[in-house]
Amino acid sequence: MRRKIVAGNWKMNMLLNDATLLLEQVIQNLDEPTIPDVICFVPFPYIHAASTLAQDSSLRIGAQNCAAFVSGAYTGEVSAAMLASCGASAVIIGHSERRNLFAEANTEISMKVVRAIENRLTPVWCCGETIIERKEGDHFSVIQGQIELELSELSPEQFSHLVIAYEPVWAIGTGLSATPEQVQDMHAFIRKTIAGFFGDARAAATRILYGGSCTPANAPALFSLPDVDGGLIGGASLKADDFIKIIEAAN
Ligand code: PEP
Repeated sequence: MRRKIVAGNWKMNMLLNDATLLLEQVIQNLDEPTIPDVICFVPFPYIHAASTLAQDSSLRIGAQNCAAFVSGAYTGEVSAAMLASCGASAVIIGHSERRNLFAEANTEISMKVVRAIENRLTPVWCCGETIIERKEGDHFSVIQGQIELELSELSPEQFSHLVIAYEPVWAIGTGLSATPEQVQDMHAFIRKTIAGFFGDARAAATRILYGGSCTPANAPALFSLPDVDGGLIGGASLKADDFIKIIEAAN
């Protein structure tokens, strides 16, 4: 039985006061212990304060990125070890906005996954196809390529720490969620591809989240699909009421 995860990707939103208020509202509404794991991926400067605020609750705090390198002369970068030392327990890696706007390449992304695991952060590794790739029928091969290039070199032990988020690029922030059928087909394909590299048992135990215009209205149908283990939520995670309803949909 895979425990569901509902995770909020705040992106570059919220100033500290509003961020604190939102976290307080989320924490107040978490049943103890919550059935789904709940993670808020907050901007770097809030990690420490957010972790302190959440320390007596089941809410986990994560970061939205980490450096590919261990430490040293990398001005402006934030290492996985720094995040862990500030209380983070998870990190998003390879979000399509990082791939597209910051030209993150396959090697860099796989290095980041390893850095996260070395520091006991759960990597929430994102994959997804563009609208052109889907229209051309290439969506399965694109995802297979991302898995092969970025994950296949992990040891089975390293891979066991990973969470996958399938996020079709065309569904992110557009209000156009993938249909339940598209989501189930892709999640089943991801699970089958993982089985090819890491075996059936590991594939069956891996949590695969859906992300892309997830809302309180569509979450119940999406989260009830057999291969969907929760969601990575962008816009709707910034509104306490919506995020809490989405958490409830995973119960
Ligand atoms: C995301 O950016 O990870 C995301 C899923 O965004 P949204 O829910 O706003 O589409």
